[in-house]
Amino acid sequence: MAQLYFYYSAMNAGKSTALLQSSYNYRERGMRTLVYTAEFDNRLGAGKVSSRIGLSSPAKLYNKDTSLFADISAEHQRETVHCVLVDESQFLTCEQVRTLSEVVDVLDIPVLCYGLRTDFRGELFIGSQYLLAWSDKLVELKTICHCGRKASMVLRLDQDGKPFKEGEQVQIGGNERYISVCRKHYYEALESGSLHAIYGSKRSE
Ligand SMILES: [Zn+2]
Repeated sequence: MAQLYFYYSAMNAGKSTALLQSSYNYRERGMRTLVYTAEFDNRLGAGKVSSRIGLSSPAKLYNKDTSLFADISAEHQRETVHCVLVDESQFLTCEQVRTLSEVVDVLDIPVLCYGLRTDFRGELFIGSQYLLAWSDKLVELKTICHCGRKASMVLRLDQDGKPFKEGEQVQIGGNERYISVCRKHYYEALESGSLHAIYGSKRSE
């Protein structure tokens, strides 16, 4: 029986690398995969999933209006699809997560979604909210804070490297950057308005 998987993490935990490895494992056995990624993520070129360690794969693009069930079932009719992999799945809509569960239940194709759990405000992304609610399997991909604890939160830094909590949820390709930290250092950095809490505590722990 096919299942719906959600691989979630903070930033820079190797989600795209894990996706590409899974896709490769299917293809190595002669099976066909479909890879999707969010349309507005243009960091690494349109229609492509790339990992920081140099792997990449062509990908179909989706936005909030894409009918994923129709697209996947049309592909499946043309030639059997053995696995669907979705990168940046935090940007899926509620309806799209629902239709991906239909791909699993009706078409019997496993669907592997990879995405961020929360944004820089500590709030769930919509796609992640429903993936957490409805997936058959939840798998956390771990990365670590500078202190060695698990990094579960994403800090957004402004141009001067100061953490802040305001602004739109989706800010890809701007001048901001993001770092993954543990919950303790997330709140300490926001409260103090600097990264000193993170870097300064390195030796004392
Ligand atoms: Zn920490």
